[in-house]
Amino acid sequence: MKFFTADYILPISSEPIKNGVVAIDEGVIKKIGNKEEFSSSDIQRYDGVLLPGFINAHCHLELSHMQGLAKTGTGLIPFISDVVKFREFEQDVILSAINSQDLAMHQAGIQAVGDISNKTDTAETKDKSKIAYYTFIEMFDFIQENLTGPTISNYKEVFRAQASSGKNKKSYVAHAPYSVSVPLFDFINKENPDNATISIHNQETLDENLLFEKGEGGFYEFYNELGFNLDGFRAIGKGSIFYALSEMTAKQRNLFVHNTLTTEQDVQAAHNWSDNVYWATCPNANLYIENMLPNYKVFLDAGAKLCIGTDSLMSNWQLSVWEEIKTIKKFQSYVALTEILKWATINGAESLGYEKDFGSLEVGKSPGLVNIPLKWEGDNTQISGTTASRVSD
Ligand SMILES: [Zn+2]
Repeated sequence: MKFFTADYILPISSEPIKNGVVAIDEGVIKKIGNKEEFSSSDIQRYDGVLLPGFINAHCHLELSHMQGLAKTGTGLIPFISDVVKFREFEQDVILSAINSQDLAMHQAGIQAVGDISNKTDTAETKDKSKIAYYTFIEMFDFIQENLTGPTISNYKEVFRAQASSGKNKKSYVAHAPYSVSVPLFDFINKENPDNATISIHNQETLDENLLFEKGEGGFYEFYNELGFNLDGFRAIGKGSIFYALSEMTAKQRNLFVHNTLTTEQDVQAAHNWSDNVYWATCPNANLYIENMLPNYKVFLDAGAKLCIGTDSLMSNWQLSVWEEIKTIKKFQSYVALTEILKWATINGAESLGYEKDFGSLEVGKSPGLVNIPLKWEGDNTQISGTTASRVSD
């Protein structure tokens, strides 16, 4: 048994405990409380706070070798073109970047990751990682129904090979409303069990909404350059999320990712559709790609369940949930820190179905333990310049 203390323990599921102590045995929390309740003299002390491991609800670990290759601030369509262009790399370069970023995320206090996979490169790292991975086998057919069949057989292979040992899980998911046909959505719905989490990129760029609202915008040219056309596409007169809502399954946990242009009406429509809706925000990636952020007030006012993702190292400067929190506080400082900490822990755990194990410091859970050396003053805490590091698995 190991004992840990700090100026404050932040269990997340209950009030902060001043000079509290957490007892952990082989990763499992055995006791948590005031220091008077503990007789051990062997207690490791940290400055600042101790809190549960973070949940990174959206990542593309397989793109880790592409750090710094995409220009910042160009917008989503040029960014996707860069992703496609840069896919030729030596396999050992790809694998070693995946491995080192898995270790970096663990060190930065990340306990579980919702990870997008279009390939099988990450499977081996995930199988031996200390992090729990929910792998989203992410499919797209560019809304070209002649590609749906080949796409399905290709991704069945990816699904089979992807990680599933220990706490790892996997499901089939759609890439984005603008890249997935109705028959491909039908396949995804049919394959996944009711308790699955399904993620989808949502409303990340103005052109995406323009396509669905008016049948206009940059996706026509983008698709032409790829050798496809959108002749069969019909606009629905509403934002892209309405297409997703009409094709996805309400009873599963659904994780909408990015939501940079999502409006109050969009959030309301999703909440009317299902009680199991989660909204993952990746602020650093939004700044990297589109130079903009979601309006968090829209989500707070609707009582939305937000969680936090890092996106890939191709669209971020590091894979750290704590760095995402610092960005949110820097640009929308009205969002309470205690609220954002829930996004980063228990909400993320719930979104991936890991809430029995992770996301809060409670007896019986194995959420990991993270230290941030800051002066805790509740929502008035200053966090700029601080770093998060793992204390215990
Ligand atoms: Zn993504």
